[in-house]
Amino acid sequence: MSSSEFSDWIEDDLQKLRKEGLFRTRRTFKPLPNGRCLLEGQELINLSSNDYLNLAHDPRLISAAASALQEMGVGARASALVSGRTEWHARLEQRLADFEGTEAAILFPSGYAANLGVVSAIAGEGDTIYCDRLNHASLIDGCRLAGAAFRVYRHDRLEKLKRELDKKTGEGKTIIVTDSIFSMDGTWAPLVELCDLAEQHHAYLVVDEAHGTGVWGETGRGLAEELNVESRVTIRIGTLSKGLGAMGGFVAGSDSLINWLWNRVRTQIYSTALPPAICAAACESLLIIKAEPERKQHLHQLSVFLRQELAHRSLLADVTSSGPIIPVILENPERTMSIAADLQAAGFLVGAIRPPTVPHGTSRLRISVTSAHQRDDLERFLKALDCSLARYGESR
Ligand code: PMP
Repeated sequence: MSSSEFSDWIEDDLQKLRKEGLFRTRRTFKPLPNGRCLLEGQELINLSSNDYLNLAHDPRLISAAASALQEMGVGARASALVSGRTEWHARLEQRLADFEGTEAAILFPSGYAANLGVVSAIAGEGDTIYCDRLNHASLIDGCRLAGAAFRVYRHDRLEKLKRELDKKTGEGKTIIVTDSIFSMDGTWAPLVELCDLAEQHHAYLVVDEAHGTGVWGETGRGLAEELNVESRVTIRIGTLSKGLGAMGGFVAGSDSLINWLWNRVRTQIYSTALPPAICAAACESLLIIKAEPERKQHLHQLSVFLRQELAHRSLLADVTSSGPIIPVILENPERTMSIAADLQAAGFLVGAIRPPTVPHGTSRLRISVTSAHQRDDLERFLKALDCSLARYGESR
């Protein structure tokens, strides 16, 4: 292919995305404290952030990161295995192990890298992975990379998964992979039932707690803690980039599991270690989560309020769920974009989520509440949403 043919191919594909209403523009944001951000000079209430506990701008995290930055410089300079693992990495691993109640912990460059690397390391040819249809792209990509047989299931039809597991024969490992909280729906995985199935079928259960850490469970360890199944889950993967307000992925577990991951997970071995300053900030987050449970309580009060208000308007997709990720399904991508633009004009930033991130016909506003917000912010948001829906018609 010549370079002009390549340019034509790129242009055709861009045109296709535009025609389908799926083209994404590159915007630049400036985060502000208190759940706000600046976009092109306009201050917006940010209802699209995963900083659930309002930690990313916390002065204690900033000062911990700043002093580590002075002490150790910016980058880690090498992968953790070579010479990138500093005292701050070791301290964070220990704090994560203490937080999770395990012997040890290991860090990854991101939650994406943790999921991709762990799933593709534990499964291989001859094994079978069962992956929830709504799992995050990083788990799906990990399943694809593993080279194992790969089956997709729906957690709202677990009897089908059970039938498949009953039928399964052969020597290979059986692995069930799930998010704890599905990131675009805000719904919970049926972890108790999945633990039962995994135990009945000698399967390993891998759970991604990306949206659970800091938000669920008595001590903020996630949905597995909330549902009292932590010891029944084979591997729990977490991210530092959402509830902890920093960056990076992690697994906490037994010494031998962590040694094995250290030696076998390619996204950890072949990538530069996290910056030490990020580790220092995440250490601080773990202290704050423990000392200030009121952050989580406030978050849940706001989530309950917004869910109730959306349910009154018949806009809540799943009335049985709870928590800060709240989708309003509008189905059509153009309408979703128009309503998100109206909300932005009124001072609110919400995610406008379209395929391929979500299935066709389920484009949505993805509202995420954080503990930085106040009830008054949400009341004003609801008024703006009502206005925009009236403008674009209630019918989907
Ligand atoms: N898992 C889930 C469920 C997520 O939503 C995300 C982030 N969107 C990730 C993993 C990846 O985490 P990170 O942003 O730390 O790479």
